[in-house]
Amino acid sequence: MTDVLIAGGGPAGSSLAIGLGRAGYSVELHEKSSFPRDKPCGEGLMPAGVAALDRLGLRVEGAEFLGIRYHHEGLTAEGWFPKVAGMPEHGLCVRRLVLDRALFGAAARTPGVRAFEGSVVEALVFRSGAVCGARVNRTDRPARLVVAADGVHSRLRRLLGLEQLKSGTRYGLVAHFGLASGVHPGEFVDVYLGKRHEVYVGPLPGRELLVAMLAWRDWEGGGFMRTVSMHPRLAGILRGAKLLGEIKGVSPLSGEARARAVPGCVLLGDAAGFTDAVTGGGMTQALLSAELLAAHLQKRFSADVEDLLVFDRARQRMLADYRRLTAIVLAAAARPFVIPAMLRVLKAWPGLFSHAVGVSGGMRRLF
Ligand SMILES: Cc1cc2nc3c(=O)[nH]c(=O)nc-3n(C[C@H](O)[C@H](O)[C@H](O)COP(=O)(O)OP(=O)(O)OC[C@H]3O[C@@H](n4cnc5c(N)ncnc54)[C@H](O)[C@@H]3O)c2cc1C
Repeated sequence: MTDVLIAGGGPAGSSLAIGLGRAGYSVELHEKSSFPRDKPCGEGLMPAGVAALDRLGLRVEGAEFLGIRYHHEGLTAEGWFPKVAGMPEHGLCVRRLVLDRALFGAAARTPGVRAFEGSVVEALVFRSGAVCGARVNRTDRPARLVVAADGVHSRLRRLLGLEQLKSGTRYGLVAHFGLASGVHPGEFVDVYLGKRHEVYVGPLPGRELLVAMLAWRDWEGGGFMRTVSMHPRLAGILRGAKLLGEIKGVSPLSGEARARAVPGCVLLGDAAGFTDAVTGGGMTQALLSAELLAAHLQKRFSADVEDLLVFDRARQRMLADYRRLTAIVLAAAARPFVIPAMLRVLKAWPGLFSHAVGVSGGMRRLF
């Protein structure tokens, strides 16, 4: 019988498969899509995520960024990643097409891991009330432990009755642009804070730019291109740029779980809960959580819910500061009258902004 069956070959599932395979476990990794597959995302990997990739021995092509820069009606504040021992001082903007394929490919090459594309985990299989495997492409596959790493709108979370029924009020739209000649993509992730929306802009290799718009459902300023054009600096950068591919959307942005473990199964990555992309650390937190779960299972391999909850408590402690910061930034972004004051404070105290960017980067504790 397989030790661990993982549903979902995103950053959480693939990096867990690598960690467990290297530790000598037998792993099945099932991904419903085929690579290269895209995923709407801001594509900014924070320094702690870059460090996690290093620990996996993975190098992926990306564009380094030095921090976050907020813009609002002519005001600008720069938050540089702080210097922290053992961490890179930069994040990496990387196409999900590239990152996810590299991670899944590395998992597939790891001894002990069998990785399947086009492989849909349709249901869970139970024995005596505990999960004992999954139905994949109409076949039951037994496993000692099942990990649901199937993303923010997790089907397995729903099937387990763990869905937190709280509907999200935000959505995201993402597009890529090829810049006109002579325009430099920049060294920061630029965030344009507007009324009931933000626009994130990340530099990518090959003179490409990632533009992601996050908005509340009541944002009435128009669609993606109209919203982008409301920010004069950004409109200038995009003058003459070419839209590459389609504009892709995600709605709602969030998804929460009532509980994150049941006998025989544990939720991982966005499937375990995702509040919002406003602080841009989702991929990093998915990689770090996967690393934590692999280490936990190496210490004590058990599908017992009490043991899985030991991991879950450690994960919640690890994520707590990042989640607090996300709640603070989201509350501020929701109130347009707060934004100018917030930017003035961050501009006047660059050390404070750098500290906050360090927390979102997975490099520092909040207090
Ligand atoms: C608009 C937007 C902007 C964002 N910006 C950033 C950012 O700048 N930086 C950042 O770090 N994070 C960002 N995030 C968050 C980030 O995308 C997620 O946190 C991250 O992808 C979580 O990884 P994951 O492996 O948990 O889930 P996913 O990456 O969603 O992977 C889940 C995988 O499971 C597969 N799957 C689903 N159902 C099944 C099934 N039944 N069987 C088999 N496979 C299945 C899916 O195809 C997918 O490949 C953003 C998110 C959004 C929506």
